[in-house]
Amino acid sequence: MAMTRRVFIKNMWCLAGGAGLLCLAGGAGLLKGCAEPEDLREEPREKPLEIDNDWLAGYARLEQEGRLAERIELAYEMMENCTLCPRQCGANRRAGDEGFCRAPEQAVVYTHQPHFGEELPLVGNSGSGTIFFSNCNLRCVFCQNWPIAHEGRGSEISDERLAEMMIDLQRRGCHNINLVTPTHVMPNILGAARIALEKGLHLPLCYNTSGYERLEALKLLDGVIDIYLPDMKFMDGKEAERYNNAEAYDYPKLAREAITEMHRQVGDLDTDERGIARRGLMVRHLVMPNRVAGTKEFVEWVAQNLSTDTYVNIMAQYRVEHRAFEYDRIARAISAEEFVEAMEWAKEAGLTNLDSRSLTQLELHRQRLQ
Ligand code: SF4
Repeated sequence: MAMTRRVFIKNMWCLAGGAGLLCLAGGAGLLKGCAEPEDLREEPREKPLEIDNDWLAGYARLEQEGRLAERIELAYEMMENCTLCPRQCGANRRAGDEGFCRAPEQAVVYTHQPHFGEELPLVGNSGSGTIFFSNCNLRCVFCQNWPIAHEGRGSEISDERLAEMMIDLQRRGCHNINLVTPTHVMPNILGAARIALEKGLHLPLCYNTSGYERLEALKLLDGVIDIYLPDMKFMDGKEAERYNNAEAYDYPKLAREAITEMHRQVGDLDTDERGIARRGLMVRHLVMPNRVAGTKEFVEWVAQNLSTDTYVNIMAQYRVEHRAFEYDRIARAISAEEFVEAMEWAKEAGLTNLDSRSLTQLELHRQRLQ
């Protein structure tokens, strides 16, 4: 049955530049230099809930089947000898040890708010309910969120508080809970989702990840996560090792395996009658200078191994951030030619579900070449 909509009040706070959020087109949601304002944490902005009586979020269904609690327990066990991601540091984070990501036991959150810079099926007209987690298990040299991802700026919070944030985003009319950089806090997310479910959470969870995931951890998310939003950053191990930081030669292989598993779990993107995402896979790929991201290989891999209907966002917004200026080949923006050739490769590969803003960017970049 089609999802019904009772009332929509457009929340333009983000578009007005509140709290320093830069709404990049389809980007990872860059935040800079601002802590979460108190009023955003507490201000009740009631919006009528959108409820589809026939659609049930994955975690809700799993709870109905009595299987969610066990997943949470298994996930927290992984944190005791941490194997939550491919680094497999073995740190006992529950006892205060730190691994490569430097994440503690509790989640560290930089901010939570409706975000209007994500892909349109996530944004709809009321925003994607983003929760930006601090720290990262990959830490790319060109990271645009480096103060949060590398330096861990943010506040440590309990699973109960994380659940409140989810409920707050739902109350403010967001269409999904968009978990940005979630890999190292996956147990906390599961724990919070269960608490939030009791308080009435019904939105789909969107797992917004770098793609550097471990299959064993992803299996715990099977049936919990409705929308996967992974990056595919590099197709070549040497490039990944060079720019993804510290022994991530295996990124292309593991990200391919992870995305394949995500696709197995949720399939191609499914939207409601308004075009808002409910379930499925959406893949991001950032075009980089000098073809270092392997865009041609990426689009061909998607077409041959996932589906030509896979939702793919080919992104044009690469900037020289963090330590990228130290590396000659990525120390500049991409050229119009580089973006146009990337999009032409995507079309030649037969991809039919390209992000609308990718297509707009293609036209803009073509005009620059005329
Ligand atoms: S999540 Fe962090 S501590 Fe755990 S294996 Fe990955 S990098 Fe290491």
